[in-house]
Amino acid sequence: MSRPQAPSAPAATPRAAARAAPLVAALIATLVATTAAALTACTAPVPRPAAGFTLRYERPAAPDRASHRFLRDRRTAEHALAELDALLSLPYEVAVVARSCAGEGSGYDPRTRRIELCYDDLPEERDPFVRTGHPDPDGALADVVGETVHHEAGHALLDALGLPAGGDRAEEDSADDFARLMLLRAGPRGEAALLTAARAHELTAAEDGAPDPADEHAPPAARAEAHRCAVLAAAPDRHPDLATPSRAPCTAAWTHTRTTWTQAMTPLLRR
Ligand SMILES: [Zn+2]
Repeated sequence: MSRPQAPSAPAATPRAAARAAPLVAALIATLVATTAAALTACTAPVPRPAAGFTLRYERPAAPDRASHRFLRDRRTAEHALAELDALLSLPYEVAVVARSCAGEGSGYDPRTRRIELCYDDLPEERDPFVRTGHPDPDGALADVVGETVHHEAGHALLDALGLPAGGDRAEEDSADDFARLMLLRAGPRGEAALLTAARAHELTAAEDGAPDPADEHAPPAARAEAHRCAVLAAAPDRHPDLATPSRAPCTAAWTHTRTTWTQAMTPLLRR
């Protein structure tokens, strides 16, 4: 006995099928994309806000193009920030922004937690080395930029640690100490960079005459001497030429400074 056949659906005409085909393909594509997105959403880590030091370069003003190129090519800031991030875990992002500052000067702003690294600082930092016949003014400039990045990072750390500044000058001195600490951690390469930065301060002192009373930093000659004192204390065997009777207290002073900073930043140390 044959079974009654169910009525079949009317066959689609070839033209209707042709019209439906793109629609079906689009529906399938949408379904596949939606499923893939849902799977990705389930498995991808939830993005967290950036923390630590980040770096970006703004487009330079026309006169600063060479300085912008110098910073990008030398990667001095990148190297300094990599050392900082390897050592420290900041609870939030501190953005380092390389930019044209129109003479404002590099600095850290606690309101925005931002370090500005100014292209337009570079020529005036390089020129004294050129004028005094330094064999490698670009290398010297890179050392000075590295010192600046570490100094400003010192301000950012004082802020992150909530350390009482104790006055503008005290905060500047602490930021300088932090820069010394970071550079001296790098061994001979950092010692050389710190001595180049000392030379830069010395040249500034010689060219500018009396220190600017409005400047919150230590006078340039004092900064130069403090750099050399720290280098001598950190590596006396490599720098016997720095040993003078007036620097006899350097070892004890630097040991105290290094211990103080290291203890202060313990909450942020990665290890
Ligand atoms: Zn400062």
